[in-house]
Amino acid sequence: MHNLIARSGERHLIQNLDGINKADPRQRAWIEVDPFAVESNTRNLVSRLSKDCVLMAVVKADGYGHGAETVARAALKGGARNLGIATLQEGIELRKAGFTCPILVLGNLIEIEDFSACLQWNLMPTLSSEREALICQNIAKSKSAIFSVQIKFDTGMTRLGCDLDQAPKLIENIFNFSHLDLKGVYSHLALADEEQNGQMRTVTSKQQQRFEKLLELLPQGKKNLCFHLANSAGTLRDKSLHYDMVRVGLSLYGYTPMRHLKEDLGLQPALAVKARVTLIREVPRGVGVSYGHSFITARPSRLAVVGIGYADGVNRALSGRISVLFNGSFVPQVGAITMDQLVLDATDQPDLEIGSVVTLLGKEGDQCITPQEWSDLSGSIPWEVLCGFKHRLPRVVI
Ligand SMILES: *Cc1c(COP(=O)(O)O)cnc(C)c1O
Repeated sequence: MHNLIARSGERHLIQNLDGINKADPRQRAWIEVDPFAVESNTRNLVSRLSKDCVLMAVVKADGYGHGAETVARAALKGGARNLGIATLQEGIELRKAGFTCPILVLGNLIEIEDFSACLQWNLMPTLSSEREALICQNIAKSKSAIFSVQIKFDTGMTRLGCDLDQAPKLIENIFNFSHLDLKGVYSHLALADEEQNGQMRTVTSKQQQRFEKLLELLPQGKKNLCFHLANSAGTLRDKSLHYDMVRVGLSLYGYTPMRHLKEDLGLQPALAVKARVTLIREVPRGVGVSYGHSFITARPSRLAVVGIGYADGVNRALSGRISVLFNGSFVPQVGAITMDQLVLDATDQPDLEIGSVVTLLGKEGDQCITPQEWSDLSGSIPWEVLCGFKHRLPRVVI
């Protein structure tokens, strides 16, 4: 019994029974977020911009899984001037949290009530058509208010945005609408993160040419509005894509969007996913592990069950393909990843015991496991890996 109590997991249990530590979010599995990394990444990225170009921190999807408020605060400290979010609700939450900087809703809103709420909460909607412009004009007029809006044009992404052949009419109408204040004109790159040769280069430069044509459509004297095109990849790729503002998401969180880029940009990963060992199993050779027995022990093995699974955002497609970090070594994960648990082969890790903390993603000492590594193994992209962590994982700001 003494032996058992000495183990850190047991100590934890006993503390909990005593009612101490009950609210510790590190009981099972959690995300650690380092706001100083976001702040320093923002500074790093701002230093790459010319002095009249500002940085919008894109904090949609709860700050790419890091917690929108935490990262928004850190990015503004690091020199970001604007925030970008995807949904109305995300914007309202930031306003309720006290953020006063310009906030752009990058997604398209549908209902009149949604545009009304934008005006009420001082969020800039993105307009992709006449319909939305007219809704905004009518709302603002009925409230005797001026509605700040931005227009998005489709220069080749073929998703949101107004067709370029309708651009002259839309721009003209917007300037004639008495209650609209057009703050910005933007577009979005489709291939900026790909290696730019042949067709890839052509697509990006075509998008850029089309975007610059829009400048010519703007009436004289209205050129103080903000022109923006670049995401993280565009920002890091080419200064000529910067214009008046860049909209940076992934790189704020510490990753390069261009996998072919070997240069060290000095970005710091801001997130780590950690979990604790909940059980140690000693099993003989020839034993099938987890659903489907896709892993069979090849030797008498010491298996460690960790309390994290695909319901937390560890994609099941990673089963048997990843390792976790423990005391500077990589410990292989074996068998199928299940909803709430996964299993490690800890045969070579005698120090790994009940209650031990392992790092699934992020930095531990000099080692780091990146979302890119996971996404390569699961046929995904780093953006999706980061957004895939569920709210069941508490976020601990360090
Ligand atoms: C998400 C988003 C971004 C940020 O993209 P990253 O590749 O994460 O930098 C920029 N612009 C728009 C319109 C977006 O939707």
